[in-house]
Amino acid sequence: MTQPKFLSVDQGTTSSRAIVFTADGTPLATAQKELKLHYPQNGWVEQNADDIWSDTLHCVREVIKQHADITAFGITNQRETTILWNRETGKPVYNAIVWQDRRTAEECAKLKRGGYEQKIVEKTGLLLDPYFSATKIKWILGHIEGAAELARDGKLAFGTVDSFLLWKLTGGKVHATDATNASRTMLYNIRTHEWDEELLHLFGIPRTLLPEVKDNVADFGTTQDDLLEKPYPVRGMAGDQQAALIGQACFETGMVKSTYGTGCFALMNIGEEFKVSQNKLVTSIGYRIGGKTNYVLEGSIFVAGAAIQFLRDNLGFFASAAESEKLAEEVKDNGGVYFVPALTGLGAPYWNPNARGAILGLARDSTRAHIARAALEAQAYQTKDLMDAFVKDSGIDPAIIRVDGGLVANVFMVKFLSDMLDRTVEIPSCAETTALGAAYLAALGSGTFKNLEDIAGNWNCAKRYTPSMDAVTRETLYTGWKKAVGVVNHASSNI
Ligand code: ADP
Repeated sequence: MTQPKFLSVDQGTTSSRAIVFTADGTPLATAQKELKLHYPQNGWVEQNADDIWSDTLHCVREVIKQHADITAFGITNQRETTILWNRETGKPVYNAIVWQDRRTAEECAKLKRGGYEQKIVEKTGLLLDPYFSATKIKWILGHIEGAAELARDGKLAFGTVDSFLLWKLTGGKVHATDATNASRTMLYNIRTHEWDEELLHLFGIPRTLLPEVKDNVADFGTTQDDLLEKPYPVRGMAGDQQAALIGQACFETGMVKSTYGTGCFALMNIGEEFKVSQNKLVTSIGYRIGGKTNYVLEGSIFVAGAAIQFLRDNLGFFASAAESEKLAEEVKDNGGVYFVPALTGLGAPYWNPNARGAILGLARDSTRAHIARAALEAQAYQTKDLMDAFVKDSGIDPAIIRVDGGLVANVFMVKFLSDMLDRTVEIPSCAETTALGAAYLAALGSGTFKNLEDIAGNWNCAKRYTPSMDAVTRETLYTGWKKAVGVVNHASSNI
C-alpha cells in the first residue's frame, strides 16, 4: 500500500509555497514563488491578490506533477491580510492589504478615544490596532469606488488569504475560513464562536461579506474538477502561527513556540479557558478541533528577521543574512549599543504604531559589529518582553520554548536567546513547522491521524540550547534594552 501524502499550501508574506509531506512529517517535494510587497505610501503595505492566487496555483501544480496521489490538502496563510472580491467575477476589488499595513492607525486611535477597546478585547481577545482585518475592510469599503454598492447588493466577499485561496481552489463553491483565522479579524467573538453583530455594526461591515467559520479540521470542500490532475479534498486549515503551534506539537497548557521570520510570533497554549491578557498580549484561538477550543496568548513582534534584512539591504552591512552571525561575534559584547527595530511601529507589548526604529548607545568606538550584534540581541530582548508577559498573565513559567523560522539558523542568536530567557530553547528536526502543521491538520481530517497525540509523537528535537549566562549580566543587559525601548516608545509622540 502506498503511504498517504498531504499537500500543504503555505501562503506567506514573502512567498507562496506548496509542500508535499508524508504523515510522519517528511517533506517529499516543494515549490516556492517569491511574492512582491508594494509600499504605495508611508506605512501602507499591499500585495496583488491575483498574484497570491496564481503563484499558489503554480506551486500546487508543480508538486502535483511529482506526487499526484495526494490524500488531502491543508491550507495555512499569512493572517489578517485582507482581500475583498466580487463574487460574480472572482476579481479582487483592491489589492490585498497586508497585516503590516498601518493606514488605519488614526481610525484605531479614534475608536480608542471613543472607549471601544475594552469591549473589543473582551469579545475578540484583540487590541485595537491596524494589524487586524476589521479596519482594513472598512477602509476598502469606504475608499474604493463601487465596493460599497457591491456589498449592498450581496456581491462582495471578504476573506483573509485562506478564504480567498479556498474560494479559488473550489471554483467559487466554498466561502469559508477556520476559527484561528477568524479570530484575527477583530469581528469574531472567540467566546461565543460567532461573527459579532455589534462589532460588524461598529465597523460598518455587512454580514453578507463574511465566510462561514469552520473548525481547523473540517470538510472545506474539494478542488474544482478541472483545476488539477483530479479533484482533491481540502481537510485542514489554520493561520500560519497557529499552524506552527500545531507543527511544534504545543498541545499542553503552558507550552510555548516562537517563530523568527520576518516578524516574531510567540504563542503560549493556555488551555480551554478564554482569558483576557492584563499585560498587552492578545488572546486568540490556538486551534478548534472537534468543536473543542484551545486558546493561546500571543505576542507579535513586527520586525525580527526584517531587522537583519534592513542591515543587509538598506545599510549594506553584509551580503547575506547569515553573515550577521560572524560579524556579531567579532566583538565580545554589545558595547552598550541597542538596536530597537521599530521599523513599522512597536507590536506587543507596547502597541505603538507611530514608533520608529533607533540605534542607541553609540560611542566613538562603536562599529558595524556592535550594531549587527545589537540587531541579533534585540530578538532575544523582544522575546523576553513577551515571555515575562506570558508568565504574568498565565501564572505558568515554562522551562522550555520551542523555536523555528529562518533566524534560528543563527547559532549566536539562539544561544543568546536561551541566555536572556534563562530557559532551554529547542529546535525541531522539521524546520518547516508552519507548512507541517497544515499537513497534520489534513492528516487528521482524512483519518490518517486519530488525535493530537499522533502528532505529538512525531515531534523530534534536533538541537537544544541551555542557558549559561549569569544573572547579573542578564539583568544588566535587559535593563539597557528596557531603557532603549522606552526612549523609542516615548519619542514617537514627540518626533
Ligand atoms: P518568512 O517566513 O517571514 O518569510 P523566514 O522564516 O524564511 O521568513 O526567515 C527569513 C528571515 O530570517 C529574513 O528576515 C532573514 O533576514 C532572516 N535570516 C535568515 N537566516 C538568517 C541568519 N542565518 N542569521 C540572521 N538572520 C537570518
